Amino acid sequence: MNFDDYRGVWVFIEQNGGKIEGVSLELLGAGRKLADKLQVPLAGFLLGSGIKPLANQVIAYGADEVYLVDHPVLKDYRTESYMKGVMQLVPKYKPEIILYGATPNGKDLASAVATDLVTGLTADTTMLDVDVANRLLEASRPAFGGNIMATILCKKHRPQMATVRPKVMKALEPDTGRTGKIIEESITLREEDMRTKVLQIVNDVTKKANLADAHVIVCGGKGMGDAQNFQILYELADTIGATVGGTRDVVEAGWLPHELQIGQTGETVTPKIYFAVALSGAIQHVVGMKNSDLIIAINKDPNAPIFDVATYGIVGDALEIVPKLIQQFKQLRTEKGGEMSYARKI
Ligand SMILES: Cc1cc2nc3c(=O)[nH]c(=O)nc-3n(C[C@H](O)[C@H](O)[C@H](O)COP(=O)(O)OP(=O)(O)OC[C@H]3O[C@@H](n4cnc5c(N)ncnc54)[C@H](O)[C@@H]3O)c2cc1C
Repeated sequence: MNFDDYRGVWVFIEQNGGKIEGVSLELLGAGRKLADKLQVPLAGFLLGSGIKPLANQVIAYGADEVYLVDHPVLKDYRTESYMKGVMQLVPKYKPEIILYGATPNGKDLASAVATDLVTGLTADTTMLDVDVANRLLEASRPAFGGNIMATILCKKHRPQMATVRPKVMKALEPDTGRTGKIIEESITLREEDMRTKVLQIVNDVTKKANLADAHVIVCGGKGMGDAQNFQILYELADTIGATVGGTRDVVEAGWLPHELQIGQTGETVTPKIYFAVALSGAIQHVVGMKNSDLIIAINKDPNAPIFDVATYGIVGDALEIVPKLIQQFKQLRTEKGGEMSYARKI
């Protein structure tokens, strides 16, 4: 394998029902930086049925090129058909780096492609960079139970591939004036050859989605003492229009359901405001919330690690401080004529 034949950074543009997933746009932002450092084009590749209208959006978010594989059999995601699409593109155009969103479909596709191409795949990456001299992707992620950050290299195979969780990278502001190249690739697929059939698509409407999209989150930790004490966090959340989440220890104690867990093995969140209440700030928790715009930590231990990432810290007993905050926010709300969310205005 001649590594010099491999050039360019590619992003898998995941779409569902003609709508591009947010993580794909975030990856175009991250991929843009890598491509600029390597001085190569950034491409998005898009599979589906009737997807051509999405190409301009991919360019607006930073791509120089868009590869399209458009076929009725690709209408809904299936490993087998999408794999065929990717295997049509990658061996032909030879990108050196491919990024996928760590969504259920992105993870499924990336691992299948890595197996077929016999190349490496770093899963659930939280940081990306490149060693320009050696043209190596530096994909970092928590390892060994999250106690260290490991940077993983793929030195002996190409392309170098990684999946990245939603909300970890930032999308660029779209520029509708950008222009780029659209390359349409034809493919031969037959529905009767597919081993799986999509019978029905059922949308998962759970609280998990609320947490990922929340602008303000009140996250409680084990220091709240018991499930009953979470009532004051719900009251705070109600007062300011926030969503409640918890640490893994809280979920393991049965105080909150797993879909409300924030962190390495839970949700990654990027709200505008994150209240970290009575939680220590273990690395496995912090990786899931550190990109919040503003972090307000309440902890009775002044040396709690959460204060290292907090914008504002309050040292004291949460069971005393949270009711005072509720009282203050309610008073502010009254002064503002009953306006729902003070926090949303910050
Ligand atoms: C592989 C792996 C994956 C993990 N994934 C996750 C994950 O996704 N999310 C996650 O959160 N954790 C995760 N963990 C667990 C993580 O390591 C910590 O154990 C966990 O985050 C600690 O939860 P906590 O902060 O609620 O509890 P603790 O660490 O027990 O912290 C409680 C804090 O509350 C403070 N406190 C106590 N009483 C009060 C009070 N009255 N007022 C104010 N402060 C008070 C204490 O000073 C302390 O700092 C993972 C661990 C491993 C090994």
